[in-house]
Amino acid sequence: MHKKLIFLILACAMVLSSCEEQKPTVQKEEWSIVLHAGAGGSQLMPKDTEDQYKIFLNEALTVGKTILENGGSALDAVEQTVVYLENCPLFNAGKGAVMTMDGRHELDASIMDGSNLMAGAVAGVTDIKNPVKAARLVMERTPHVLLIGEGASAFAREQGLEIVPNSYFTTEGKKAELAKLLEQHAQGEPHGTVGCVALDKNGNIAAATSTGGMAGKKWGRVGDAPIIGASTIANNDVVGVSSTGHGELWIRQSVAHDIYALMDYKGLSLKEAAHEVIWNKIDKMEGSGGGVICIDKNGEIVMEFDTKVMNRAWAKSSGECGAAVNPVVSE
Ligand code: ASP
Repeated sequence: MHKKLIFLILACAMVLSSCEEQKPTVQKEEWSIVLHAGAGGSQLMPKDTEDQYKIFLNEALTVGKTILENGGSALDAVEQTVVYLENCPLFNAGKGAVMTMDGRHELDASIMDGSNLMAGAVAGVTDIKNPVKAARLVMERTPHVLLIGEGASAFAREQGLEIVPNSYFTTEGKKAELAKLLEQHAQGEPHGTVGCVALDKNGNIAAATSTGGMAGKKWGRVGDAPIIGASTIANNDVVGVSSTGHGELWIRQSVAHDIYALMDYKGLSLKEAAHEVIWNKIDKMEGSGGGVICIDKNGEIVMEFDTKVMNRAWAKSSGECGAAVNPVVSE
């Protein structure tokens, strides 16, 4: 009887240990990158327009991907990718930013370095050509995290960044959009904000976000993009996040930090954490929703959005890559 019991215990232990051996091994990417260029819209994008957008998304992706392939830092990859997107008039950041209700541009941006938890941001800036560059300099050359308006401009000037007239950011499309919104006494839906998250060969994660905000916003309104923990977060041990969407919801739900916290404190996978926050928090609130792009410490990529479309592109060292606007089945 006693022998039988010992045999049973041994058999159980063997079964359990063989189960453990069979746990799927997590593939660790050497490097990984994902970008977004806004989410929103009430309709899918027509195929030919999607194809045009994909050209720009792929070009932006190549900027960051090349840096990572050559052993460059995640910080450089996200900054340079966002600079490319800020210079592209198609998106709502830098050139092509949406307008405030009084017909001007006020831009927000942030960046975070997951290796040391340093972060920098600018808000309500009107003349810095590439706000993400200013955000990085705030992080690296000041003891602060967030500079606003004229103070941010003075700092950028002092640092030798390119300063442009406010009209530089204007495009005919964004002018027409504002005219329509003013006619309807409405504020626009989120679209075209840009961001990037990367993991480099040294295991460092960085994230950056840049935007003109919401079209027709009150002047002085600051969204989620420059708020660390709302739109952007990076921590080498857990995750990097950049977001796009209805900024007020992102601030009220601390979206990026929530995803980080669910993973760090509760052990949720990246997919579970992003799904929980977008579908069980954001989607249940009144507003126009949005999406997040995320990379975990293993280089796993998740792009979660509750809107019809999200402009996005991604690549991993193992070879998986793509660009999309409409939802795709294979993701
Ligand atoms: N999140 C941005 C903001 O609220 C808008 C967007 O993502 O398009 O300022």
